[in-house]
Amino acid sequence: MSTANPAPAKLRVATVSLAGCFGCHMSFLDIDERLFELIEHIQFDRSPLTDIKTVGLCDIGLIEGGLCNAENVEVLRAFRANCRVLVAVGACAITGGLPALRNHLDVGDMLQAVYGTVPDDPELPLPLNKVHPIHEVVRIDHSLPGCPPSADAFWHLLQDLIAGREPAHGLIRYD
Ligand code: SF4
Repeated sequence: MSTANPAPAKLRVATVSLAGCFGCHMSFLDIDERLFELIEHIQFDRSPLTDIKTVGLCDIGLIEGGLCNAENVEVLRAFRANCRVLVAVGACAITGGLPALRNHLDVGDMLQAVYGTVPDDPELPLPLNKVHPIHEVVRIDHSLPGCPPSADAFWHLLQDLIAGREPAHGLIRYD
């Protein structure tokens, strides 16, 4: 019988883009070859990286983007219910960011101006009157500011969470 210690369980990590541009996900991928080291410690659940469509029970949820429609709210609530630690990633998740620039406009007028009509396909999620940051709807454990946060910021955040440490804030930037 082998006496070797079993490998420690990997942390399960989910990521999602709500009302965002996927720039935060792109920056996450900029950790480049360190991804190989990372996947020794984590495995992905729902994420554009896995194409899994629903979130399961996870240790960490990384959320890019704010809330611009009813589907965003539903996805956010499912992440909060399933993720032990929830991280608001990037300016859009933390403040509403660029999508919130529409907040001074009437949503009906805006749809009319862009599409020439108000789209009413029942498959389209209902737009919200305003774009909201995610902390207005659920409790957030950590924030990673930036537009986007740097790859190093993602790296250090995950290293801290994997080690069970409170994340440090040395690499945060607010541009
Ligand atoms: S914070 Fe910047 S990079 Fe991230 S989703 Fe928003 S606009 Fe895109």
